[in-house]
Amino acid sequence: MYDLTIRNAWIYDGTGNPPIRGDVGIREGKIDAVRHLGKEESSKSIDAGGLALSPGFIDLHNHLDMAVLGLPFMDSHTMQGVTTSLTGNCGLSMAPLSDATRDLARKYLSPFIPAAVMSDWRWNSFGDFMKRVENNGVGHNIAGLAGQGSIRIAVKGFDPSPSTGEEMRTMKTLLRNSLDEGAFGLSSGLIYPPGSFTSDRELEELASVLTEYGALYSTHMRSEGSMLTESVEATIEVGRKCRIPVEISHHKVTGRCNWGKLHRTLRIMELAREEGIDVCCDVYPYTAGSTTISALLPPFALEGGVELAKKRLTDPEARERIKLSIQNPRSDWENFINDMGFENILICSSPEKPEYQGRTLKELIDGHPGKDDPYEAFIDILLDMQCDATMAMFGMDEEEVEYGLAHPLSSVITDAWAMSPALGGRPHPRTYGTFPAFLRRIALDSRRLSLENALRKITSLPASRIGLSDRGVIKKGCWADLVLFDPKTLRDKATYADPHRYPEGIEMVLVNGRVVVERGEARETKAGHVLRRGQGNG
Ligand SMILES: [Zn+2]
Repeated sequence: MYDLTIRNAWIYDGTGNPPIRGDVGIREGKIDAVRHLGKEESSKSIDAGGLALSPGFIDLHNHLDMAVLGLPFMDSHTMQGVTTSLTGNCGLSMAPLSDATRDLARKYLSPFIPAAVMSDWRWNSFGDFMKRVENNGVGHNIAGLAGQGSIRIAVKGFDPSPSTGEEMRTMKTLLRNSLDEGAFGLSSGLIYPPGSFTSDRELEELASVLTEYGALYSTHMRSEGSMLTESVEATIEVGRKCRIPVEISHHKVTGRCNWGKLHRTLRIMELAREEGIDVCCDVYPYTAGSTTISALLPPFALEGGVELAKKRLTDPEARERIKLSIQNPRSDWENFINDMGFENILICSSPEKPEYQGRTLKELIDGHPGKDDPYEAFIDILLDMQCDATMAMFGMDEEEVEYGLAHPLSSVITDAWAMSPALGGRPHPRTYGTFPAFLRRIALDSRRLSLENALRKITSLPASRIGLSDRGVIKKGCWADLVLFDPKTLRDKATYADPHRYPEGIEMVLVNGRVVVERGEARETKAGHVLRRGQGNG
């Protein structure tokens, strides 16, 4: 007797095997049988009508932790078939926090968090935060990384100086505690303060804590443009020295003059793997990135935090230095304006200046009274928005993105925040569309990959990267995280102009054996588990 059976499906098991026609029986949240079930009894039976049944999609890179307490169903993710998310990426996790710097961290991350879903930030440890998430409920399974930036903020705020021995010991303790409390590894974001203030040596020393756990190091590298190759080599070096698996986050090439580098970096990763270094990457299926508007400023402008940055932008001398640094074509930091140009940077959300949303910086500068000096005008516009805005930056080559998506070493990720249409704004379309967009473009339309191989990159491959042995495949004994979809109609509908659109063709989503989405409608809203590393992942 099963709790639920799904009959008459093309079953893609997630490993890359070709599909088989059959039935799946579910009991107590887990897959109990994968075969023809004939007349075996079941409390509820669903006729799949020959549609595709896959393990639920696993997203290794997103920022869902920032809004999960206010938006526990995580609508934009769950509705596109995501059943497990690894969050806390780019060095900026919601935990750990410290009493001394809680407000600094909150102020810094608030551009990413719509006011309607802002939480009280009353926790300190990683374990406390995950407990809060668990008690509040989640729409699908959540696992977390501890962020290097957050750990450093907890210890020394936005102080750019190298960490002392004492500070280093405290940071290592915070990381060790987080890992003991279930964190799946460490993330870093080396273009964002305080990651941008952190030397490779300091980073490696912190990452050495991961060795004893064999846990993952996942990094938004120092450069995805002019210094991309060097950054990939530095990341591999961390894997070599610390003997840990490393993941290159949202691997991409930004800036036209850098296009073409991805073939080389993926080759470097293949060679490192032959040497025994466990390096992989993840990629999202869009040619624009998205982040906070303050990432357009040079690191020194952000020393001490965003409030100080705003002060600097009004101080004539500091303002001049910032302008010169942005205008310098050979700057030694990730200079998006230089790499992409004002015309390729689009304002997504701006609570202070909603009328700026959906317009490029070029358009805003052209409409500014001080447009004769575009850099001056840009800084004024930044101040208009109180440095509190998110942007999309169009800097990648479509063919190169597809090459990255199809490469055997890449998983596919959203890099998105939790969203719901009610929250408004103009989030990046990846928020709602990533997985259907990937399957449509890379498998169903172009046939660059077979559907079974494309599904492997969003199920068993990401599961194996974080050691989830009972998710990401359809097999007896695994959790019943499943997506039933129609390969004929599956497609993303979210666009830059109209991003709050759920995809088409996702017929049903199950999380831990419970139906959470049925024919495009949300059902049970809190079927997810909080996953903790080394604790059975239940
Ligand atoms: Zn990132």
